[in-house]
Amino acid sequence: MTRNDLIVITGAGGFIAGALTRHFKQQGYTKLRAVDIKPLDKWYQVVEGVENLAACDLKIKENCYQVCKGAREIYNLAADMGGMGFIETHKAECMLSVLINTHMLMAAKDAGTVERYFYSSSACVYNAAKQTDPNVTALREEDAYPALAEDGYGWEKLFSERMCRHFSEDYGLITRVPRFHNVYGPFGTWDGGREKAPAAICRKIIEAKETGSGEVVIWGDGHQTRSFMYIDDCLVGVEKIMQSDITEPINLGSSELVSINRLVDLVEEIAGFKVKRRYDLDAPKGVRGRNSDNTLIKKYLGWEPTIRLRDGLEKTYAWIYDQYKKRQRGEKTVS
Ligand code: NAD
Repeated sequence: MTRNDLIVITGAGGFIAGALTRHFKQQGYTKLRAVDIKPLDKWYQVVEGVENLAACDLKIKENCYQVCKGAREIYNLAADMGGMGFIETHKAECMLSVLINTHMLMAAKDAGTVERYFYSSSACVYNAAKQTDPNVTALREEDAYPALAEDGYGWEKLFSERMCRHFSEDYGLITRVPRFHNVYGPFGTWDGGREKAPAAICRKIIEAKETGSGEVVIWGDGHQTRSFMYIDDCLVGVEKIMQSDITEPINLGSSELVSINRLVDLVEEIAGFKVKRRYDLDAPKGVRGRNSDNTLIKKYLGWEPTIRLRDGLEKTYAWIYDQYKKRQRGEKTVS
């Protein structure tokens, strides 16, 4: 792989793949093909000097064959996804993303030029029975089996992971499959129903402060726990895993466990504003507790995500605040 070989990145109109495209451009890769189903004016980031293929539906096999032509490396991050509010109510839609990975794998195999194929899996593949306690034991890679993944979205990810494995075993396509645990940061979805907890809490506290309502609705009782990985750590991890010899799915997440109440505390500190918390116990909540066990990634790479939640949240809050103000002024915003 040289700086002049073609890299294909799918889902590039969205959060992580958009950031990855920018990251590769900054590193001097000269041939980048960025692909998304959204029209270009809806992309979160449009990187200059890149071949941007907008309005391209990768559920359609012919499009995947077109997109993979001449590629040396493929990063397949395209998926229909969102936070708990979205995945609990759009299970069929989430499962249909299986068409994207199926056709992308076939096209990658048949292109004859592809050296490595990356698929973004998720912590939602883990067995739900191992995530019932907020004082969770961090999830190790083997905890995905016996399988009881998150309904809809998680099953699609687990199935697609295995398809990557079998394309490796049967066709010799090198595949790399990290399981992302909650990624957040600037240029992520922050409004509209697909946003995840860190962005949602930032936006709600900004609204409470700016409108004077002072109140924030929190989904669940606030004691549920999670870990959150800042986008910069995610990008480093993606690159390291892609270039590694790790053939099995591997956790890529922060191991800094926090409750949702603690997340609200941190955003309050950053905002310099205390809110009145109203708990909606009927809202989608997901599993009770989830954390990333990083033993394996440290063993293989001597590395794990290290950016503190407080530091990442400061940057995310500032960016969402800016977006909020832009929207108020009637200017174009992300998501
Ligand atoms: P995102 O929604 O911001 O980006 C996904 C992009 O895929 C979107 O721009 C969307 O338009 C595009 N897409 C959807 N269907 C498509 C299709 N048929 N053809 C072409 N493009 C299509 O999401 P993200 O947070 O950037 O997530 C990227 C990947 O990482 C996804 O595969 C997601 O499942 C996975 N992941 C993300 C997280 C997280 O916390 N953000 C956690 C676990 C896994």
